[in-house]
Amino acid sequence: MTASPEFTSDTPLNTVLGAASARKVETAFGYTTVGQMLSHFPRRYMEIGELSKISELPVGEDVTIVAEVKTVNQRRMHSRSGFLLEVVVSDALGPEQSTLRMTFFNGYEAKKELQVGSTAMFSGKVTIYRNHMELTHPEYSLLDTAERADPRPIPIYPATAKFPNKKIREIMEMVLAGVDPLGFPEFIPESVLEKQRIPGRVVAYENIHRPQTVAQGYAARKRFAFEEAFLLQLALAQRRVHRLQQPAIARRGTGDGLLAAFDKTLPFTLTDGQVLAGMEISEDLVRGHPMNRLLQGEVGSGKTLVALRAMLQVIDSGGQTALLAPTEVLAQQHHQSIKKLLGSLGTGGELGSDPRATRVDLLTGSAGAKERKRVLLGAASGETGILVGTHSLLSDMVSFVDLGLVVVDEQHRFGVEQRDALRSKADTPPHMLVMTATPIPRTVAMTVFGDLEVSLMRTLPPGRAPIATHLVPLQLPAMQQRLFARMVEETAKGHQVYVVCPRISEKVLEDDYLPMPVEPMPNTAGDDGPARPATMTVEKMMELLQSMDIFANTEIRALHGRMPSEEKAEAMQAFDSGRASILVSTTVIEVGVDVHNATLMVIIDAENFGISQLHQLRGRIGRGGLPGTCLMATWLDAEHPSVARLRAVESTTDGFLLAESDLNERREGDILGANQSGSRSTLKVLRVMKDAKLIARAREAAESVVDGEAGLGSYPGLQAAVEEWVDEDMQAFLERG
Ligand code: ADP
Ligand code: MG
Repeated sequence: MTASPEFTSDTPLNTVLGAASARKVETAFGYTTVGQMLSHFPRRYMEIGELSKISELPVGEDVTIVAEVKTVNQRRMHSRSGFLLEVVVSDALGPEQSTLRMTFFNGYEAKKELQVGSTAMFSGKVTIYRNHMELTHPEYSLLDTAERADPRPIPIYPATAKFPNKKIREIMEMVLAGVDPLGFPEFIPESVLEKQRIPGRVVAYENIHRPQTVAQGYAARKRFAFEEAFLLQLALAQRRVHRLQQPAIARRGTGDGLLAAFDKTLPFTLTDGQVLAGMEISEDLVRGHPMNRLLQGEVGSGKTLVALRAMLQVIDSGGQTALLAPTEVLAQQHHQSIKKLLGSLGTGGELGSDPRATRVDLLTGSAGAKERKRVLLGAASGETGILVGTHSLLSDMVSFVDLGLVVVDEQHRFGVEQRDALRSKADTPPHMLVMTATPIPRTVAMTVFGDLEVSLMRTLPPGRAPIATHLVPLQLPAMQQRLFARMVEETAKGHQVYVVCPRISEKVLEDDYLPMPVEPMPNTAGDDGPARPATMTVEKMMELLQSMDIFANTEIRALHGRMPSEEKAEAMQAFDSGRASILVSTTVIEVGVDVHNATLMVIIDAENFGISQLHQLRGRIGRGGLPGTCLMATWLDAEHPSVARLRAVESTTDGFLLAESDLNERREGDILGANQSGSRSTLKVLRVMKDAKLIARAREAAESVVDGEAGLGSYPGLQAAVEEWVDEDMQAFLERG
C-alpha cells in the first residue's frame, strides 16, 4: 500500500490494494485499473443534514435516519422463493427510544452487514404495513464512531453482498490518496470546461467520491455525464462527416413516372405530416450522399405510404428498393398493402400488366424453393422494384442490379450487422430510411439512434375514430363476464376482436418478447396479495373461448410467431377477410397489422407489457372510422406499482407523452438495447431522458469542435479519448443509425 501520489489511470489495482483485494474487486466489478475503479460512481449520497427522527416519520415520504440495529430476523416467504430479512432499529433522537422495522427481500448484503449493535444510516420511503410504519428495502451505509460526527455526505455505490458499500468507500479512499494529477490528463478543451462550468477531471474524481456537500458531488457527476455525452456526440459528428463524404447515387425521379401515376390514383389526400416527411425524404434522395433518416410517426400515421412514395421515386430513377420487416406477419402485411395501394402499378412481371408497372415481391424464410428462385431471379435481374421481406433478405443469395433504397420497419429489432449486410448489396451505399412507430423524443433519438436525420409525423389521417381504453380488474367475476360480453357485442355487430396474451403457451414465449418485470407489492411480508392464476397463453385462451357457449358460432383463430408460416398467413387472411371474428394472438400483431373492421382489443395480463407496447397494440384498432375500445385486463390490485403503467396508457393516447413515461420507467440498458446483447450498458453516467439538455449542449460543443477549422485533429488528447471510448460495443451502438 502506498500513499505517495503516483497512480495514473492505468495503474493496476493490485499495486494499490494488494493481489487478494484486487482479485475480489475484479470478480465483483471487473475492474483492474485505478481509472476503472475511480469510474465506479456513487448512485447517490446520504447526508446527516437530512436526518429524520423515528418518532416523527412522515408516511409516504423519503427519509434518512441514523439508528442502531436491535434485532435481525430472517423469514421465508410463502408464495415466492427467497427470504425476507426483518431488521428492527432504534434511534435516540426522540423523546423516548422509538423503533422502526425494515424489510429486505433477499437481503443477503444486509444480513451480512447489519449486525445487532451496529449503527448505520438508512434511507428509504416510509410505508405502513399492518398498522406499523416501516422502510422497505432501504439504502444504508454502516457508520463507525468517527463518521457519526462527520457532516460530509456519504456516497452510496452500486454494491454487492460480497462487496458492500463500506468496503468500496475504503478502497476509494486508498485510490484517491495516491492519484497523481499528471496521470489523469485533461482531454476536454479548457474553453469547453469553462463554457459548461464543469470541473476538471482530477477535481471531479475527488468531488464525486468525497464531496464536501451533496451539491459538489452532483456537480462532479455532471462533469462525467457531460464527458460521456461529449465523446458520444464527437463520435457521431465524425460519423456524419464521414457519411457526407461517401458517394451515393442521386435518385431524382421523373415528373411523369410511377410516383406521379401513383399519386393520381391515391384515393385520399396526404396528411400534412406525410407531405412534409415526403419532401424531406425526396430531397435527401436527390443528394449525392447516402440518406440516413428516421421516419417517426404515431401508430397509424401512414408511414408505409410515405416509404412507398420514396421507393417509387427511386424506381423512377432506375433503382431497386428493399423493405425489411421484423416479422413474417408484418412482411406479409406490407407486401399485401403495397400491392393493394399500387394496384395495377404493382403488377410488373405479371401477364398483361400496366407497362409502367413495377414488380413487387415477398421473400420470407418459409418461401418454397420454387418461389424463392423466382423471387431471387426477379431481384437479380433488376425486374423487381420492391422486394419486401424479413431477415431472409439479408442472405447472400439475394442480389440486386442496383439497390438504391433500403427501408427498415421498426428498426430497433435489427442489429448493425444486418443492416450492413443489406448495405453491402449495393456498389455505392444505398439510401436508408428507418421507420419507427415508437415515438422517441428528439434528444433521445439523437443519442440512441446516433447519426440520423429525423422526420416526424404527429398527425393521423382524418377519419380516425377515438380509442377508449379501460382497465379491467379480473379479480371481480362480474368484470370478467363483462369482458366476454363486450366481445360478443362487437362480433354481433359484425366487428372484429383481438385478444392479446403475453405467452404462446406455458413454456413458449414469443421470440423477441421480454416480459416486463412485475415488481413485488411493497409491504407484503412475502405474500403477493390474492392469488392470481398463471399468465394467460394463446393456447389456454383458445381453449377457453372455444369452450364457451356464447362463442359457439364464432370463428376464432390463433396467431403467433411459432406457427408455420402458411398457417400464419391463413389465420391472418381469415381475420383480414372478416371470416374469423376473433383473433387470439401474441405481440406479433403489435406492429403494422391493419384490419379496419377491428374495434375491440382485449389485452390479458396487461402488466406483462411495456407502455409503448400497449400503445402499439391498441393502435391496431379504430383504424376504419369505427370507434375502438381497448380493455387492459389484469389480476393485479389497483394499488400495485405495475398498474401505474397501465393507468398511464389508460389516461392518454398521445404516443409522445407515453414514450416519455416509458423511457423514464425503463432502465437505460433497455433503451439502448444493451440488455439484449448481454453486453455492458453502453452509457455509464448519462441518462438519456434526464440529461436531455446536457446532451443537446454536448452535441453543440461537439459540432463546433468537429466543424472547426482543424477539426478534432487539433485536439490530440480529445481525439485519443474518443477513439479509446469508441470500443467495439460502442461502435455497434453508433452504427445503429
Ligand atoms: P403506420 O404509420 O402505423 O405504419 P400505416 O402505414 O399502416 O400506418 O397506415 C395506416 C392506415 O392508414 C393504412 O390503412 C393506410 O392505407 C391509411 N392511410 C395512410 N395515409 C392515409 C391518408 N393520408 N388518408 C387516409 N388514410 C391513410
Ligand atoms: Mg406500419
